Formats: sequence, structure tokens, C-alpha cells
Amino acid sequence: KGIQVAIDGPASAGKSTVAKLVAKRFNYVYCDTGAMYRVVTLAALRKGLSMDDTDQIVRLAQQIKISFQPGDPEQRVFLDGDEVTQDIRQGQIDNNVSAVAAIPAVRTEMTRQQREIAQNGGIVMDGRDIGTTVLPNAPVKIFMVATAYERARRRYVENKAKGIATASLEELQKEIELRDKKDSTRAVSPLTQAPDATRLDTTNLTIDQVVDEISKIIKK
Ligand code: C5P
Repeated sequence: KGIQVAIDGPASAGKSTVAKLVAKRFNYVYCDTGAMYRVVTLAALRKGLSMDDTDQIVRLAQQIKISFQPGDPEQRVFLDGDEVTQDIRQGQIDNNVSAVAAIPAVRTEMTRQQREIAQNGGIVMDGRDIGTTVLPNAPVKIFMVATAYERARRRYVENKAKGIATASLEELQKEIELRDKKDSTRAVSPLTQAPDATRLDTTNLTIDQVVDEISKIIKK
């Protein structure tokens, strides 16, 4: 039936691309937890809520229905049944999601949903706190890193390929570094490597090499 695989790391380290391919190889379910925080952020912005309005954002996080459907090349994401796959990748979401993700009660709710999704194993879950907080007993934990420049470059190429209006390479690098800083310094479940995670620096690795490396660890 399969195990739990936790993949964490900073923004644009290639987690979702790799996690999706690993899931495919083992016939596991893939869950993008970053997408869940993005959906909450989108819902809050659509309601015109201020990012300081934590009570309202928490209530919203508890009320909305976040769901996924397999899709190629991207997993499809839904907010109350409406597709938001593209909407959650906009720059406005990048710039506000870390504030939403720093709200403790929002994390409590997302963590609850994520544990429910992962409870039967056979899952590859990617995010920032999967190995440390969401699935601390996962038998396989990976912490993926790459230089900020390389991550910005990948994001830039990806935006272009997807036809998303993209900021410049320099702006993307700044956004990524700022988001990493916010994610690493928040009070609750900050981005940090679990002591028992395997660290993979992907700066000079191809996607296939990273997928092979993780597959070997799963088979052990
Ligand atoms: O992975 P992605 O870049 O889509 O994640 C968006 C944001 O969601 C992160 O910058 C972080 O603030 C938040 N996040 C989190 N915990 C997770 C996954 C994402 O706080 N497990």
C-alpha cells in the first residue's frame, strides 16, 4: 500500500516537479501542501480581506473546500469546486502567502487536512514542514535545496513555459529570498530541515537524477 514520503525545502527548489514524478513511479498519491496555503490566500484576497485580519482568514481556512485532481503537466486545484490552478500561481499570491501561512490556526487546519490525506500511506507530500510537523514519523524525508539564483532561474523558465506573466529574474530572486526568510523565521513550524531528513542539493542535478536518488532511498 505504500509509505509516506515527505519532501521539504525552500521555494522553487524543484519539490513539486520531483514529488510528482516520484509519486508516478511508485503509483502513490501526490499532495502539494503549498497549493493549499495558496488557495487560502486566494480566497482571502477575493474576499478583500486584509492580511492582518487573522480571525477572518482563519474562519475562511476552516470553511472553504480545497480539493485536487490529477492533471498533466500540473495537478489541478479547486476552491469550493471552482478550478484555481492558474490563479494560485500569480505574483500577488507569492507575495501574500507567507503571511497567511504564518497564522498558527491556519496551519492547524491545513495540518489536520494534510494528515487526513496522508493517513493511509502511499503518498508523496511536499511543503515546508512535512517532515518536521505534519508527518514526523514518515520513513522517508527529503530536504531539497538549491542556490537562490538557480531557483529564480528555474521559476523564470517555468513561468515563460506556462505563459504566466513573469517578473524579471532579479525580481524573482528577491521574491524567493524574502519568502524563504519569512518561512524560516515564523514562530510556528518554520522551514527547517528535520534531523532525520536526507539533504539533496539539486543546483547541479537534473530532474531525473533527483528522482532516481529519492527512489533509491524509498526502496531501501
Ligand atoms: O510550495 P509553495 O511555494 O507553493 O508554497 C507557498 C507558500 O506556502 C510557502 O512560501 C509557505 O509560506 C507556505 N507553505 C507552508 N507550509 C507548507 C507548504 C507551504 O507554510 N507545508
